[in-house]
Amino acid sequence: MSQAQIIDGKIMAERLREAAAQEVARLKAEHGLQPGLAVVLVGEDPASQVYVRSKGEHSKAAGMHSVTHRLPADVGQAELLALVDQLNKDPAIHGVLVQLPLPKGLDEKAVIEAIDPAKDVDGLHVVNAGRLAQGLPSLVPCTPLGCMIMLRETLGDLTGKRAVVVGRSVLVGKPIAQLLLQADCTVTIAHSRTQDLPAVCREADILVAAVGRPQMIKADWIKPGATVIDVGINRVPFSDPVKAAQGKTKLVGDVAYKQALAVAGHITPVPGGVGLMTVACLLQNTVTAAKRIAGLEA
Ligand code: NDP
Repeated sequence: MSQAQIIDGKIMAERLREAAAQEVARLKAEHGLQPGLAVVLVGEDPASQVYVRSKGEHSKAAGMHSVTHRLPADVGQAELLALVDQLNKDPAIHGVLVQLPLPKGLDEKAVIEAIDPAKDVDGLHVVNAGRLAQGLPSLVPCTPLGCMIMLRETLGDLTGKRAVVVGRSVLVGKPIAQLLLQADCTVTIAHSRTQDLPAVCREADILVAAVGRPQMIKADWIKPGATVIDVGINRVPFSDPVKAAQGKTKLVGDVAYKQALAVAGHITPVPGGVGLMTVACLLQNTVTAAKRIAGLEA
């Protein structure tokens, strides 16, 4: 039986990070412009701490000006908004990212809307979401951007392909669907109320899983030869009872990966797939924001 080709997020992300670093070096040399990224972490969420550390390290490695602001979980909304305002006004900062989720009691929506849309490198501000929906230049959320880069590098032109996106979140599902539509795919967005989800998925030449349910998408939901992009990151106990008893966990996607390998044409692994693209796209977005703010072509 033929095996699906694995879409290697590690190699693609490395290439993107290198391209960002080269562009940073060029901007410094030719325009005296050093792209700057500010990441704000509120509280002690362990996963958020890992993501924020990685964002800081990679932006520094790319030659950017990089600052991380750590605030206690009990910080007030007004204090957080004041920091966002200060970063909006800081000419050395071109990208402002507030790590989500925020601790309970803080109004996430209000914080995102307080970020200057020109510096909204997570692409979550309503202005950027609206511009994306209208096909105008915008800052696009990093994970969807990463998925599209993977698809284009794997398949080339996407025109006319049937794409099914499972998940309709503002962060992942909706923007991916918009980008696929812009790429001239015929797009279906499925969600928790979709009827006969397996049949809907089987129509897809491109199947994007952004659900957050471990290995929900089974091999027989996949059209033979389809390209499968698994966005899901789910931490589950090991199936080995000894390891499980020790409390050890592992990461799996939303797709039953091992079985899907026998059906799909191309597939992203978890870990080692989309997740790695997210930080690389954040660097790309910060470079784009810096160029646009400086009035350079981006
Ligand atoms: P959300 O929980 O915000 O959205 C999940 C979506 O899946 C919702 O639209 C929901 O539908 C839909 N859904 C839930 N259950 C079902 C079901 N049984 N059948 C069909 N659809 C269902 O999650 P996110 O979009 O934020 O994240 C999705 C996954 O992607 C998570 O595993 C997350 O960890 C991962 N992720 C990975 C990133 C990366 O860098 N690789 C970055 C961001 C997220 P409804 O709207 O009807 O409730």
